[in-house]
Amino acid sequence: MFRRRAALPALLAASALTLAGCGASSAGSDDGIQVLASIYPLAYAAERVGGDLVSVSTATPAGTDPHSVELSPRQLRDVGDADLVVYLGGFQAAVDEAVSERAPDHALDVATVADLQPLPAGAADEHADDEHADDEHGGLDPHFWLDTERLAAAARAIADDLARVDPDHAQTYRANAGVLADELAALDDEYAAALTTCDSDVVVTSHAAFGYLTERYGLRQVSVSGIDPEGEPSPARIRAVRETIADLGVTAVFTEPLADPAVAATLAEDLGVDVLQLDPLDSHDPDAPDYREVMATNLDALRTGLGCA
Ligand SMILES: [Zn+2]
Repeated sequence: MFRRRAALPALLAASALTLAGCGASSAGSDDGIQVLASIYPLAYAAERVGGDLVSVSTATPAGTDPHSVELSPRQLRDVGDADLVVYLGGFQAAVDEAVSERAPDHALDVATVADLQPLPAGAADEHADDEHADDEHGGLDPHFWLDTERLAAAARAIADDLARVDPDHAQTYRANAGVLADELAALDDEYAAALTTCDSDVVVTSHAAFGYLTERYGLRQVSVSGIDPEGEPSPARIRAVRETIADLGVTAVFTEPLADPAVAATLAEDLGVDVLQLDPLDSHDPDAPDYREVMATNLDALRTGLGCA
């Protein structure tokens, strides 16, 4: 009796700690299952699939170009400590290296389910000039998350791995992945319907992030830079884009949050076209609208820029 009473304060203290964490509890740690996602779209999928059972952090800080991310010592430790690391192999050299060095117990490379395609033609040309980028991307287009079906496949793979890490909640993870997949399918339907009848099918973008998206809806992407947003476009590339804009009667170009706005502004001014914004979701501020909302805003910009009925 005496013993149980004595233990009570300790128990209370332990539960207070749990509440001070993320409020979720489950096997092991006070904060639930720790998931480290390499980029925002994977963090979004992990959060949706894991719900309250997981606590998700992202290796790419807001406002950082994920194509050239470096990891801090603390993030390196997180790679080793996480219950599950979700990343896109071949996209971020620093993350690939950390995963192979720190060898987390569970690492999911979504490249295994994302069906990555070769870089879009224009981007590949630009890419070939840059040996460094070649090493990093292996000639494949990383931006699979802008294709709703590919992101749904990644979500299902995340659910399978979370189910392995935390078998007690396997059903919850799979059900959550199903809900997200249904939402993504509805978003896909919205895109398909909205982009059926447009004056133009040419999407002039800053960096070549929209290959999967344009392919999915029968559009064509022309990118000013290559696959890397920081790649400086060559004068030849800018000339080619100018010609495309003039020849194909393009009336709008799309810039993006992390791009140098000067290039698009110059093109727009010279050719008398509008400048709109498309967010490739490469990077994301935690307080900013989420994947679903950004995709809706992107669709509005596409409808306006392409003159869709
Ligand atoms: Zn990108």
